[in-house]
Amino acid sequence: PIDAKKLDIINATLPVVAEHAEAITTHFYQRMFANHPELKNIFNQTHQITGRQPRALAAAVYAAAAHLEDMTTILPALERIAQKHRSLQIKPDQYPIVGENLLGAIQEVLGNAATDEIIDAWAEAYGVIADALIRMEETLYRDTELQPAGWNGFRNFVVDRKVKESDVITSFYLKPEDQGSIPDFLPGQYITVKLDVEGQPYTHLRQYSLSDRPGTGYYRISVKREDAPNSDIPAGIVSSYLHSQLEEGDVLPITAPAGDFYLDMAADTPVALISGGVGLTPLISMLNTLVAEQSKREVSFVHAALSGNVHAFKNHVQEIAKQAVNVRSFVIYEKPSAQDIQEQAFVKDGFITLEWIKENLPKDADFYFCGPTPFMKAVNKALKQWGIPAEKVHYEFFGSFGDIESE
Ligand code: FAD
Repeated sequence: PIDAKKLDIINATLPVVAEHAEAITTHFYQRMFANHPELKNIFNQTHQITGRQPRALAAAVYAAAAHLEDMTTILPALERIAQKHRSLQIKPDQYPIVGENLLGAIQEVLGNAATDEIIDAWAEAYGVIADALIRMEETLYRDTELQPAGWNGFRNFVVDRKVKESDVITSFYLKPEDQGSIPDFLPGQYITVKLDVEGQPYTHLRQYSLSDRPGTGYYRISVKREDAPNSDIPAGIVSSYLHSQLEEGDVLPITAPAGDFYLDMAADTPVALISGGVGLTPLISMLNTLVAEQSKREVSFVHAALSGNVHAFKNHVQEIAKQAVNVRSFVIYEKPSAQDIQEQAFVKDGFITLEWIKENLPKDADFYFCGPTPFMKAVNKALKQWGIPAEKVHYEFFGSFGDIESE
């Protein structure tokens, strides 16, 4: 545990650090990448440009520092970070680099206000948080009852099939190049892909949820193409490459499955799988697993999309709902097309609401959801207002460690 005097200093300086948090973390990344350019291979450089990563880190550092005495309330957040680190293959020797540059950034941003005593206390705080994460990650790199460790680092997979699922989403069926076996994963988990584009100085790492069930002999990812929204903003680097360049027979290095968002297969409660847009991928994995295991659980699969044109796995889910008496499918289109209207392909237009959820989903369900940030905020808020206990609410966030609690 951290010593009392240092804890007092942390608590006393939290407000000033919080006030400058974004300046500190922005400076931190600049400083760290200047000292260690090789880390650009690991950190998402687009998130640096958009400011997402510094904001996420600022929020995480603040939350951790505010809970140094008793970390139990932030354990779920730490678990999420540890799982992401497993997926990125972060190892203990990388922590001192981050620590040194974070403390350097605090010192440089706060200037004279940051006395040696203050920096010393924050160094200790960083050490406490880093140790907690390193310990958690150590267990994730080992075989556990819940999950095999899989493999170390990146393993080459070959694109066995590339299948278009909608106007914007394409699936890639991946099999290991070494033709060895692949470990099972927990439905809802993700892998990290490494993209090394010829002529570009750094590699790009991105996470993709596994969109089929475990035990198939392949891993499947389903990727949305992130086009350039206008001439000032470039298209998404990795998703564009996967769609336009990566073909059947090509190789993609990936890490072993990870993630704290997964279906509890031991439960027998009703389950509501709620998705927006490409956020459906982990929920399709859960659905396929429940169907393959002939689960008797009452399953509500709710999918919100812009319209039928961008609705991936539409026929797949429809077929399941037709055949499995315990599975109901609900489609919500924000802007249904004339054809969607003619086919009566949706149960609601516009957005998902609390009223709709209350009318259609069982209150005693376990709720799993994933989608764009505004969708996540709306669903999270609705479930809270309905009085669903936190332990029954599970979600995956496709951004960097974001916050869906605010607003
Ligand atoms: P990036 O290059 O990272 O760009 C991201 C966005 O920022 C793009 O829309 C781009 O147009 C925009 N942008 C670029 N530059 C700027 C700028 N200067 N200003 C403003 N905006 C800018 N995605 C899926 O499709 N399927 C999945 O199953 C899936 N699962 C995920 C699971 C997890 C756990 C996580 C964390 C993410 C998941 N994602 C998934 C998202 C995925 O990891 C990528 O973030 C996504 O594919 C975009 O990556 P990219 O390299 O194409 O875009």
